[in-house]
Amino acid sequence: MKFELTEEQRQIWQWAKEFADTEIAPVAAANDQASRFDFDLLKKIGEQGFFSAILPEKYGGQNIDHVAYALMTEEIARVCSSTRTLFSVQISLVEKPILEFGTEEQKMKYLPKMATGEIIGCFGLTEPNAGSDAGNQQTTATEDGDYFILNGQKTWISNGCISQLALVIAQADKSKGHKGICAFLVDTDIPGFSTREIKPKLGLHASVTSELFLDNVRVHKSQMLGKYGEGFKVAMYCLDQGRFSVAAGSVGVNQACIDISTKYAMEREAFGQKIGEFQMIQQMIADMAADCEAGRFLVLHAAYLKDQGVRNTRETSMAKLFCSEAAIRASNSAVQIFGGYGFSEEYPAARYYRDARVLNLYEGTSQIHRLILAQDELGIRPANGPGSPMTPIDRLSYREKPTAKV
Ligand SMILES: Cc1cc2nc3c(=O)[nH]c(=O)nc-3n(C[C@H](O)[C@H](O)[C@H](O)COP(=O)(O)OP(=O)(O)OC[C@H]3O[C@@H](n4cnc5c(N)ncnc54)[C@H](O)[C@@H]3O)c2cc1C
Repeated sequence: MKFELTEEQRQIWQWAKEFADTEIAPVAAANDQASRFDFDLLKKIGEQGFFSAILPEKYGGQNIDHVAYALMTEEIARVCSSTRTLFSVQISLVEKPILEFGTEEQKMKYLPKMATGEIIGCFGLTEPNAGSDAGNQQTTATEDGDYFILNGQKTWISNGCISQLALVIAQADKSKGHKGICAFLVDTDIPGFSTREIKPKLGLHASVTSELFLDNVRVHKSQMLGKYGEGFKVAMYCLDQGRFSVAAGSVGVNQACIDISTKYAMEREAFGQKIGEFQMIQQMIADMAADCEAGRFLVLHAAYLKDQGVRNTRETSMAKLFCSEAAIRASNSAVQIFGGYGFSEEYPAARYYRDARVLNLYEGTSQIHRLILAQDELGIRPANGPGSPMTPIDRLSYREKPTAKV
């Protein structure tokens, strides 16, 4: 087993680190304080080619692997979780499913423009009554000749109000349950589509979170992503990609908390000593460091499996669960180490603390990831959602199936 990055992965990491430090970090706190989505920063990210990272060259991309993508994501999150959310949604929740399920026409229509940031995408799965229970879609898709008519409401949609493209999940045939769900690529300037920003929020102030309203939106059948009835599969694929990105971002938050805490601990004095010399402060720093390193390896392992084309639901879920909770612990410790100043918005710990709190809510709550992992260990899965009879499943782990492909 090798624990080395390739030269290319190192260069991409360095590139992301420099951009994060020079372009994102200087504006992150001010954008957060003003609850402002930074369109100038969006333009710079597009010009730098960040949104094109994982795309093949034929769509204007750079074709980087998941290891490098994880490192980029970590670096962006290290300075700003709002910007990391924009980046993750664009790549993991919209570009990747188009690449995986799209027709060549759909890929050519959207991906080159997404690569430059000319088109920003959002992913509309969650509804007021369908969050963890994502299969309970109330948004309907009614067939009408060459079109589907979409009606319904989505909530908590990152990038919603600033998107040109929405990947919308809707129920086309309720009698078929999950198998009646379809996915659609909806241009947001289409009649009947509208948004409303959700404000104020606990954190992610510089990220736009929105409700989406679909009122008799006529979408041509050519805009269906994947086959009829494959919408739930598309949604689960998106979540698998998105939670990987959240895991990598969580490592970045953890690292940032270590960076700001160690600096502060070696500056701040109490009882005539640097507070970093107190063992109880050192304990918090040691725990943050161990969590961060363990989390980073979980993410890189999941990335490695993705790059090998090996089934990795279990490893991705484990990385998301562990890293998100570790980041929340780390941000809590950072506030503690800053003492009263940790409670002030003039110091960095508060922003990390607020922004970290969403990490174990979106892309599957911690409870949902524990369900996935426990069911995998037990070799059982509910036939149709929590509480229903359990049926035996094949273990998800690659360990039993080293050659299984995704
Ligand atoms: C800032 C932000 C951005 C988001 N961005 C997006 C986005 O871009 N696109 C999108 O589609 N969604 C997005 N979401 C939605 C997010 O994915 C959901 O909020 C999340 O899936 C939880 O759903 P819910 O809020 O309906 O909570 P619920 O599902 O109602 O859960 C409430 C509580 O019950 C627990 N629970 C539920 N079911 C079980 C169970 N079977 N066993 C044990 N406990 C259970 C949950 O863990 C949670 O603690 C975003 C959310 C936030 C806060």
